[in-house]
Amino acid sequence: MTNRNPVETLANTRHEFGEHGGVNMSIEASTTFTVMHSNTMPDIFGGKKGPDQGGCYLYGRHFNPTVYTLSKQLAALEGTEAAYCTASGMSAISATLMQLCDQGDHIVSSNAVYGGTYALMHDLFPPKTGIASTFVDITDLDAVEAAITDRTRVIYTESMANPTLRIANIPRLSAIAKRHGIKLVVDNTFSPLILSPIKLGADIVIHSMTKFISGASDYIAGAICADTEFIQQLMDLHTGMLMVLGPTMDPQVAFNINLRIPHLPIRMVEHAKRTQLFAERLQEMGMTVSYPGLSSHPDHELISELHCPDYGYGGILTLDMGTVETANELLDMLQNEYHFGYVAVSLGYFDTLMSCSGSSTSSEMTDKDKAAACISPGLVRLSIGYTGTSEQRWSQLSEALKRMGAVPEQRIA
Ligand code: PLP
Repeated sequence: MTNRNPVETLANTRHEFGEHGGVNMSIEASTTFTVMHSNTMPDIFGGKKGPDQGGCYLYGRHFNPTVYTLSKQLAALEGTEAAYCTASGMSAISATLMQLCDQGDHIVSSNAVYGGTYALMHDLFPPKTGIASTFVDITDLDAVEAAITDRTRVIYTESMANPTLRIANIPRLSAIAKRHGIKLVVDNTFSPLILSPIKLGADIVIHSMTKFISGASDYIAGAICADTEFIQQLMDLHTGMLMVLGPTMDPQVAFNINLRIPHLPIRMVEHAKRTQLFAERLQEMGMTVSYPGLSSHPDHELISELHCPDYGYGGILTLDMGTVETANELLDMLQNEYHFGYVAVSLGYFDTLMSCSGSSTSSEMTDKDKAAACISPGLVRLSIGYTGTSEQRWSQLSEALKRMGAVPEQRIA
């Protein structure tokens, strides 16, 4: 099964003009909008006469034209009817899950998810909302199905897991979700363009646009891509999680992220090219490296079937350095002596970002849950950038590994 390349839909969607015929969309800075005939206010307020139904925009927390234009591009990227952008990836996740689940409902979640997502379901939801979650190995489809109860509303997974890089079998998970009449929600932050979860059967796709989509580590932003009905539910005046809780994206942020969408495909190709090269060489050196583009990766065959080959296997690899001390020694050396990248959380930046997941972005997880998800203490996540030349960056990485004695003896040329 080969994915379509979403850039064609994206290119058509982008063909809009700015307010004065500009090649860029306009920034609509107004928080509120003029209603020309007061008697139309009730319909506009009730969501019956929005800008696409002959009415007008109402208020920026509801729909802002600039945010809306970016949202349409996200819908095109993910092949959904609609989408809406939010102030962060976490607000996109929390709004989606709270919209789908009522008090007492249940989520079956992958046990390898971003630490903030784990905290939301593991620590925040139970006392604050009464929504319970069971964490399972998402690659064990029998375990997923066995965890479903009559209160389960959602199967939640990351398409490419943070930080384990395990790949969700979206078509098979979708079949399970459909059999039980529940929703499959997929966080596609690690693999925009590479994987198209909706085409593979997911119901809702979430992005932290803070990462690859923005690409410059300068904005916190999120998106929810779904059918029109679900996006409208999120905007409901009484029970809409975006409308009432209000994690609204600033139009200036929407405008700036919009400027990066056209080169997202080029960036994803370059991230993947370099990550594949480094992963292969690290493997040759005898390092414990994990990357979905290596045939040694447990899900290599699966992702090869599901992905859009134009974008390879993503921009992230992991190196298991054994202990947190060795991992930290490597990170400090790579940053402070070799200038290979930055010791920083996050990913999808044009420079390389490196962190030890167990003590950073997965630190919310209990030691037991980290072990169950195979997040070992020495696991280093590298989001490979594309600055400098590949060979320059490779010599920085390989020299540091050799100098600290991390390369198995016989492999040193
Ligand atoms: N989803 C994934 C896979 C992430 O890695 C992150 C953050 O690292 C988030 C969601 C949360 O996104 P944000 O920081 O934009 O709220």
